Amino acid sequence: MRNKTSIIIVSAMAAVLLFGLATYVIRGSIDANLNNILAYDLLLLFFITLTVILYLSNRKLNTLAVAKSQVTETAVLDFSQKPNFNAIFEASFDGIVILDTQLQPLELNQIAADLLGINSCHVVNDEILTHIHSIDPKITVQQFLEISLQANPLQQRLSIIISQANGFSCHAEISASKTKHKDKDGILLVIKDLSEQKESFDQVNYLAFHDPLTGQPNRVQFNQQLAEALRQADKSLRSVGVALLGLDRFKHINESMGHVTGDVLLKLVSQRISNNTRRGDHIARLGGDEFGIIYSELADINDISPLLKKLKNTFKEPFEIGNQAYYINCSIGVSLYPLDHIDFEGMIRNADTALLEAKKLGGDRYQYYSAAMSTSVKERVYIENELRHAINRNQLEIYLQPQISLTSREVIAAEVLLRWHHPILGSITPSKFIPIAEENGLIEEIGNWVLRKACELQNKFKQENIVPIRVAVNFSPRQINKKLPILIKNVLNTTRVPPNMLEMEITESLLMENPEKAIDILNEIHKLGIHISMDDFGTGYSSLSYLKRFPIDTLKIDRSFVNDVGKSDSDNSIIIAIIQMAKGLGIEVIAEGVETTEQLHFFGQKGCDIFQGYYFSPPIPIDAFVYLIKNGLVTTPLFSHPSKRKIKNLVRQN
Ligand code: C2E
Ligand code: MG
Ligand code: MG
Repeated sequence: MRNKTSIIIVSAMAAVLLFGLATYVIRGSIDANLNNILAYDLLLLFFITLTVILYLSNRKLNTLAVAKSQVTETAVLDFSQKPNFNAIFEASFDGIVILDTQLQPLELNQIAADLLGINSCHVVNDEILTHIHSIDPKITVQQFLEISLQANPLQQRLSIIISQANGFSCHAEISASKTKHKDKDGILLVIKDLSEQKESFDQVNYLAFHDPLTGQPNRVQFNQQLAEALRQADKSLRSVGVALLGLDRFKHINESMGHVTGDVLLKLVSQRISNNTRRGDHIARLGGDEFGIIYSELADINDISPLLKKLKNTFKEPFEIGNQAYYINCSIGVSLYPLDHIDFEGMIRNADTALLEAKKLGGDRYQYYSAAMSTSVKERVYIENELRHAINRNQLEIYLQPQISLTSREVIAAEVLLRWHHPILGSITPSKFIPIAEENGLIEEIGNWVLRKACELQNKFKQENIVPIRVAVNFSPRQINKKLPILIKNVLNTTRVPPNMLEMEITESLLMENPEKAIDILNEIHKLGIHISMDDFGTGYSSLSYLKRFPIDTLKIDRSFVNDVGKSDSDNSIIIAIIQMAKGLGIEVIAEGVETTEQLHFFGQKGCDIFQGYYFSPPIPIDAFVYLIKNGLVTTPLFSHPSKRKIKNLVRQN
């Protein structure tokens, strides 16, 4: 086609040129007129220009034709004719298969054979296509290949699953294009193995929906499962229960035993929850020590109660880590559908409120959500936020309560008791805010502040020219860690207070949780010369013989026993036994919360010598305490002295 056009154009060019030249040569013999000669010149010029134009257009036509022919050639390559065909074929990272237009395999490389799980030497007709399945339900592999044979196929790639004869399957992608193979039309099929990509995708997907530590679903999946459970419940007219389970005092365990043990414990807890829930129930770790359980398809909302009881009871058994058995309780908050809320977020919020309430009530229980709960929980949240600023805003103050020896008529020590004066909430008792501080970790900052203030008191006593008095500071179990001995030492050094002027009050719960660790830390502190006393004795489970293992100097009999004096014989005999055994062990005994002369006499008769209570003084501000000391009024009973009247009012406030 191209050649034909060129021949016509070149012939036309030659004819025009020859005709022009001939006309020019014979013009003078025919006509010597000057005007005619000029006309002949112009005619020649016209022929030459026409020739040039014809020449140029011929060239352009040729170039276009060459380009066009190249395009048509590359569109359908004869793959097998390429000199480096074999090299490309075998070196490719992807599987390559050549099919004929009937979709029968002609050739395939090793990668393709491996992917398809066939021996390339024995490519049986149509065997290849039986191994490839489209993931897209709208198009089969066969349809995709047929489309690829069309001039402008729309679909470029197709996701497939390869299933080998041996059962192995993997995720891949194919692309197909028209090709030539040994002069015949065919299809070039490229298979890209996506199994690695899929694996990492699956991993990312897994992490997005699971907790890496326990392998349980995470909050994201839990929310989805709950939303689905509510949808199902609507259809089946059944109920759904959501339980949020938190471990009691887990933070403390985590800190005192280390995060590794904490993690192992969480895994064991997760397993135990799994083993004690029904098949269709969903479990998730929602973060920290909090787990979520969805009890779906409940015929009746009351059906949840035995399930919760069972779950809670499983925590009675200890968790074995290494050679140690750890006891840990749990609190559970429950909300019920359709009773409590209509959407999954509301259900979780309500279960969370119930969980907080369960913890507030002392933990180790399950609690159903009730609308009335929210107010107390809101108050708690408010207190928690405000407490964070209490030190900076100068809202904390320490009060002092004297401990008096009746025989020597001396103030043995003064207990430091914390007070929080809030501009809106007024005076908040430590029993209300210390547990919150213990739970959110603020207790360390607050405890350090109290310790420093208590030590600084000694300087105040010096300035006021009063005899130094030992100050007893309450320590929460969460403050007892390896760093504590050094911290105390530093405070004593900077405030220049001798160690025997400081007393540390601890509670039994500390000794119960991790006795071995507590013994080491307390011994170190005791060696510094610090006095250690056991507060609220009798409220926990520790026996006196158990106490022998600890460096305890003083035992404070809990106020509840003092209060019961004379009310029951059995209580009286317990008190007598405690005092006698403590004395036998060389431990001092203090009766705390002494309010009446009867109580004072009873304890005095039974051999107790040191007393603390409203009988002498409630906890009072530092200046009031200094005033009582300076005026020798501390050891006189509160009711008997007119000057103590003002102080009496403080009792009411306490
Ligand atoms: P606690 O250490 O057993 O302190 C004795 C509590 O009994 C004080 O309550 C005190 O005011 C009260 N009390 C003393 N004598 C009498 C009495 O004759 N009758 C009555 N009814 N009560 C009496 P408070 O000050 O409310 O402290 C309560 C608890 O808060 C303390 O019990 C202690 O466990 C904790 N606490 C107070 N200050 C601190 C602190 O700085 N750090 C820590 N970790 N805990 C503290
Ligand atoms: Mg105390
Ligand atoms: Mg006490």
